[in-house]
Amino acid sequence: MAEFASYFAGFTGDPAFSALVCAWVFMFGACVASFLNVCIWRLPRGESVSRPASHCPRCNAPIPWYLNIPILSWLVLRGRCAACGGRISIRYPLVETLGGVLFLAAWAKYAFPAGFAMDPAGSPAVVPALWLAFSGLILGTFVDIDHMYLPDRVTLGGVAAGFALSCAVPELQHETLWWRGGMFSAIGAVSGSVALWAVGFVFSKILKRDAMGFGDVKLVAAAGAFFGPMASFFVVVAGSMAGGLAGIVLLAAGKARIGGFREIPFGPYLAAAAVAWAFWGPPLVDAYVDFALSLSAP
Ligand SMILES: [Zn+2]
Repeated sequence: MAEFASYFAGFTGDPAFSALVCAWVFMFGACVASFLNVCIWRLPRGESVSRPASHCPRCNAPIPWYLNIPILSWLVLRGRCAACGGRISIRYPLVETLGGVLFLAAWAKYAFPAGFAMDPAGSPAVVPALWLAFSGLILGTFVDIDHMYLPDRVTLGGVAAGFALSCAVPELQHETLWWRGGMFSAIGAVSGSVALWAVGFVFSKILKRDAMGFGDVKLVAAAGAFFGPMASFFVVVAGSMAGGLAGIVLLAAGKARIGGFREIPFGPYLAAAAVAWAFWGPPLVDAYVDFALSLSAP
């Protein structure tokens, strides 16, 4: 915590100014996530994300801007529509909070000198790229939870965006040359999707049914395009472990039937693994390698 606070203080030497900047970054993330809430609802329904303006899904009353402020409006209205009193899901402010926290965390880790100095190839230029990646992961996660599929616009769009950004900001791949950034992005996209496809193939044979959607394979390709080959490998392993564990827990709790793995969306676990990589990936791999070496040492 003290280390976290020192990033802020180290930015300008004025903690009050740093705190203000951080509040703005959090609010920006919450506003983006507020728009993502709209996309999560409208994209799978084939509706335009810009028109009509925000309205209550129950009574269709338009929501004026002053009642559409992320997190705060929901709290002020105590989770009810101002026009009809219908319940507004707590998921809206929670997604907005998640957006604010992730945007601020990316900023805190990479935008401050103390943050990127820890990473030899770190650069504040990766922050907007991380914001875009996190936005796509939030969108994919909640569409997958609601509808059990991942839109191509998120997954294939993520592959294209990850590749373009890795060329423009090679630091995203811990590189300094544009072509090396693009090369590792492409290797990450291909190796991750092939690895997950292989995992899905094996499980499909064991369960004698489709164990995984092709959308999951495309999501790992997007994670690999943004974060590289090590990341896509990590996302496949950690995501499969977390998803498999959740499947076993739900099975034990009677919430899923045997062979009912298709009933559990896999995207959220892959997305969570990708976010974990963005913040703690390389240290996690180092810790694992040290652990493995300590086991093999005499
Ligand atoms: Zn209403």
